[in-house]
Amino acid sequence: MLGLMAERPLLISSILTHAARFHGDTEIVSRSVEGPIHRYTYRDAERRARRLAKALIRLGVAPGDRVATLAWSTHRHFELYYAIAGIGAVCHTINPRLFDDQIVYIVNHAADRLLFVDTTFLPLVARLAPRLPSDCRIVPLGPCEAPPAIGLPVLPVYEALLAAEDEDFAWPEFDERTAAALCYTSGTTGHPKGALYSHRSTVLHAYAISLPDAIAISARDVVCPVVPLFHVCGWGVPFAAPMNGAKLVLPGPRLDGESLYQLFEAEEVTYALGVPTIWLGFEAYLDASGARCSSLRRLLSGGSAVPPSMVAAFARRGIELRQGWGMTEMSPLGTAAALKRKHAALGADALLAIQAKQGRPVFGVEMKIVDDEGRTLPDDGKSMGELLVRGPWIISAYFADEAASAAAIEPDGWFHTGDMATIDGDGYMQITDRRKDVIKSGGEWISSIDLENAAVAHQDVAEAAVIAVPDPRWGERPLLIVTARDGRQPERAALIEHLATQFPKWMLPDDVVVVDELPHTATGKVMKTRLRELYGRR
Ligand code: ADP
Repeated sequence: MLGLMAERPLLISSILTHAARFHGDTEIVSRSVEGPIHRYTYRDAERRARRLAKALIRLGVAPGDRVATLAWSTHRHFELYYAIAGIGAVCHTINPRLFDDQIVYIVNHAADRLLFVDTTFLPLVARLAPRLPSDCRIVPLGPCEAPPAIGLPVLPVYEALLAAEDEDFAWPEFDERTAAALCYTSGTTGHPKGALYSHRSTVLHAYAISLPDAIAISARDVVCPVVPLFHVCGWGVPFAAPMNGAKLVLPGPRLDGESLYQLFEAEEVTYALGVPTIWLGFEAYLDASGARCSSLRRLLSGGSAVPPSMVAAFARRGIELRQGWGMTEMSPLGTAAALKRKHAALGADALLAIQAKQGRPVFGVEMKIVDDEGRTLPDDGKSMGELLVRGPWIISAYFADEAASAAAIEPDGWFHTGDMATIDGDGYMQITDRRKDVIKSGGEWISSIDLENAAVAHQDVAEAAVIAVPDPRWGERPLLIVTARDGRQPERAALIEHLATQFPKWMLPDDVVVVDELPHTATGKVMKTRLRELYGRR
């Protein structure tokens, strides 16, 4: 017997109409690309999204068409999310930090024919124009004195397109499985691969991340996704914030510690989300300036491992830093490291050890670890295997890429994350390495993440990376590469001594290299492939 509940489609437009009606006076505040703060409400945003929807249709955008953005996190990008998906088209957010070849590849692969571009990125488009589809039309997002000469057809600027329309538009209803957004992974090897989200997956993910042990967003929060809107849909915050009626603060292009601090203070931000390198810069600014956060209570950090020392540093400021783990292919959230009731009695170090794990799966995400033969390993916190995941906001295939899909997804839907992990008896998953970064020395695994976390706890170290270096006797040996904290000079002997208090001798790096800066990927991860090229053959 089937249940008798209404099968209303889960559509992205309904999130914004809900916010406009029930949180109509709640603000969206953006630091614009031009500089000044832009301030309006969910009610205003929904009206403008309707105008934009009409403009898109007038420009010939049909359901299923990919419409691309090369844009910072601002109210205009937010409106594009809703208007493009709202008419059944697909919002393809391009990460401008990708290499030129990758951007050319994904615009062609996605068959983008309309591209909304912040003025900052017009030179990038001009540079790539000869390699982009010649019928790809450009809409500048900011004001332009004259149409920029970029070798592609340029339409009137964004505000002119909106001004030409009225608000008389009703959001259409369609199948909730309709594609809504497209994000490419920043593949470090091979071509980027597309994750194509649906309305249903996006709405379910927004519900899921709102849960208290996940990201937890309420109508009393002021939320700032420092993670850009071009990185996995701003981790779903542009959907979860209006769903819950939280005030939304979009930081635009300035993501350094001081700029963030000023914005958080001015807008009374309670909650911010970003990658560890952002929080590294933010903490360094607080440290150097002596500034105190008056409203900020919680941070979510994901994208790379969070060192326990960073959790502790923010805890001393009364700010809870929670670790999350996810992937482009997972919309992105998979796990979050919230504590359980039974942990209340634990001491500070034991708590930090739990918070340093990547966390428990959000309901809806299935998770298992397997050995090389595909056999499931026990949840004992020790057995390490490749992490596989499955769930309603996890890809079932890559966009138009059969080979990549076949390589990563099992016939029964399990997706190979490429991460090596353990899962403990309480459900906490811990990543030891990306599969391609593991270090195997004398037949034993050495976790680069564990060594890196311990290295950044040293007072002289700002950032750390550990890579495998081939070794005739042991197969591979770890090499530690670090950057210095302001005014400090890390020394090899002192660092090895510091690590020796926590690791057996055979796990200790053979050498330490101090560099001015570590290379980062377009999504803020340390680029280990580059480090292996530079230092991997000693
Ligand atoms: P890419 O940078 O390849 O585009 P994503 O941004 O989707 O990919 O990153 C996914 C990967 O980032 C994960 O597979 C994992 O290796 C890493 N990652 C994400 N969050 C964490 C975390 N909290 N700790 C360790 N690694 C993480």
